[in-house]
Amino acid sequence: MLLNSTFDSKTKPLSFLKFQTDTIFTGTEALSSNHVLITDTNGKIVDIVDEQSAGEDIQQFKGIVSPGFINCHCHLELSHLKNKIPEHTGMVDFILNVLQKRTAPEEEIQQAIQDAEAEMITNGIVAVGDICNTTDTLAQKHKNNLYYHNFIEVSGFVPSKAKERFDEGMKVFESFNQIFPNQTSLVPHAPYSVSENLFNLIQNKSSNQILSIHNQESEAENELFLTKSGDFLRLYKELGIDLSHFVPTQKSSLSSCITYLSKAAKTILAHDVFTSKTDLELIKTYSLKSKTQFYLCLCVLANRYISDSYPDQFIFQNNLDNIVIGTDSLASNHSLNILSEIKNINQKYPQASEFELLQCATYNGAVALNIEHQFGSFTKGKQPGVIWIEDFKTCNKPKKLV
Ligand SMILES: [Zn+2]
Repeated sequence: MLLNSTFDSKTKPLSFLKFQTDTIFTGTEALSSNHVLITDTNGKIVDIVDEQSAGEDIQQFKGIVSPGFINCHCHLELSHLKNKIPEHTGMVDFILNVLQKRTAPEEEIQQAIQDAEAEMITNGIVAVGDICNTTDTLAQKHKNNLYYHNFIEVSGFVPSKAKERFDEGMKVFESFNQIFPNQTSLVPHAPYSVSENLFNLIQNKSSNQILSIHNQESEAENELFLTKSGDFLRLYKELGIDLSHFVPTQKSSLSSCITYLSKAAKTILAHDVFTSKTDLELIKTYSLKSKTQFYLCLCVLANRYISDSYPDQFIFQNNLDNIVIGTDSLASNHSLNILSEIKNINQKYPQASEFELLQCATYNGAVALNIEHQFGSFTKGKQPGVIWIEDFKTCNKPKKLV
């Protein structure tokens, strides 16, 4: 709540929007129904006052009014793969399918990107952490319909190809960085797809940046690092990648690569399906040691699509402030809808309340993407988007109020 209110209903012009509802969720707390949220006509937060001080023309709602959602993990450029990849194949066949099917006519790719962005806007999303392997999304992002942080993703498990793959990634990075200078980072794809040489090159570019990495999405990822066994051997064979250089670290995949993330200001670990309690302890120790803040990004509907496996219940233990939410792409999800993600997480992890999950999807996401000065909470002067969830249990689409 904004204290020491300067809002005076008698002297200010009537160009304000005033919202009263069962619960105003501010991004971090749920306020009762005697509060009124006041914005200007562009949605900039003016104040939250009690109803007696709010004056006239108050719009009444049932349910929850919340700041707009932050989607911390998406691949907008894969939107044309909607309904093209079979479900429940497991990680290796999912990857093989994406690689095989991702090429498409330029018009089809661009139309799908445009439609997917429009879907996110309709679903109350205001900012996106978006993985990019190509410049396919650049033209749409240039329209500035949504805020994007662009994670330019590099991969390559063959050490001798590291420089070549890094240079390719840097070309894409430069294209985005010219237009979005503070909203672009070069990031590693996953522990199993980035060689030590390539990790080193990326790390040199990551000082004080926001990183994102796919983390422990499958059990096979840990098996590879622990014993050089499991389904990923099939992936490398199918892709014709020689693994003779690779010596298993006998540690989990996360503990094998975490030192390469130490220069970043923040790192978003996407998926975390097979992240153990020991891994979480490592993250906490490492956060203190290296001052890198880690965020665990849950993408449960993508987990259901790919493998029907989910992070363990302990992911929420003493960890709420570090959890954010993502949709992943339309290659592994039927929609880009953070409210659907929240509701599914709420069913699977009943210990996390709807308001705690709304915090993950608003305030926490904004902090993870370094945009809390504008997004994620109803704080005076911010323009976070105002969305209305009429009934948390039955509503699938929030309505954008301003
Ligand atoms: Zn992803």
